[in-house]
Amino acid sequence: MTANLLDGKKIASEIRENVARRAEELKARGVVPGLAVILVGEDPASKVYVGQKEKACREAGFKSDLLRLPESTTQEELLSVIGRLNADPSVHGILVQLPLPSRIDPEAVIAAIDPAKDVDGFHPVNVGHLVSGVPGMVPCTPLGIVRMLESYRIPLAGKHAVIVGRSSIVGKPLAHLLLARDCTVTVCHSRTQDLAYFTRQADVLVAAAGRPKLITADMVKPGAVVVDVGINRLESGLAGDVDFEAVREVAGWITPVPGGVGPLTIAMLLENTLAAATRSLQ
Ligand code: NAD
Repeated sequence: MTANLLDGKKIASEIRENVARRAEELKARGVVPGLAVILVGEDPASKVYVGQKEKACREAGFKSDLLRLPESTTQEELLSVIGRLNADPSVHGILVQLPLPSRIDPEAVIAAIDPAKDVDGFHPVNVGHLVSGVPGMVPCTPLGIVRMLESYRIPLAGKHAVIVGRSSIVGKPLAHLLLARDCTVTVCHSRTQDLAYFTRQADVLVAAAGRPKLITADMVKPGAVVVDVGINRLESGLAGDVDFEAVREVAGWITPVPGGVGPLTIAMLLENTLAAATRSLQ
């Protein structure tokens, strides 16, 4: 049996069309959704991500401002830019592209963003809302994963979800989103002993470790839903964390890399920005 493909690109493009329609309606009420993206330094991968986000904003009819700050920017300078954007009513979303230069404390920077404009969902107030099950801004990648599973009507309640990776960007927020959908959740990480013991129990297996081909076919339960979050830049091109060709012969559903989770992440950034713009009217 070859697994069915979870086509993130297709789902994301449907969401983006819907966002563009709702942005038009908002414009008729006098509000143009605005996203400010701050890029500090010259990290090549960050430049690619920021470019994709800007393009998506333009296509959805948003106002998008890219603030390119030099590598030498101090924390104080960055905080002052954020303060200005917090106070600007035409900016509904603020995104600081990570990683930041090592001199700058990312926690202090994230905490300076107005939680209502924190479209990445990384501010401690939004993290608290997610953990408590209160509506708030949710990080785009885990939100996109759940949206993709729901779009394909993958049953989640009562299923065992195993997440490989415990970062604040993917693994931890995803664990809360899946708990809220009544999954039994196991979170594995670099210190987990016998990773395969856990992954083989997964009805839904999410790989978010940043390790190419970490998940091999013998680690997957037949028929499982496999979501590959990894983006690894190899000489041969982009690769996920899952040995795609072998695992697709075992799994029931699988995401490709590229064209799986990545497009959903950008679609959720647009949704979060649109939601912030809509709330600014209330
Ligand atoms: P991270 O480095 O912050 O976290 C990686 C996690 O994986 C850690 O918790 C670590 O303990 C765990 N891990 C590492 N090696 C492991 C191993 N051998 N066994 C078990 N666990 C292991 O990374 P991140 O920011 O969470 O990103 C993870 C991957 O997802 C990266 O490849 C990143 O590029 C990708 N990513 C993709 C998107 C997207 O939109 N598709 C978004 C964010 C991150």
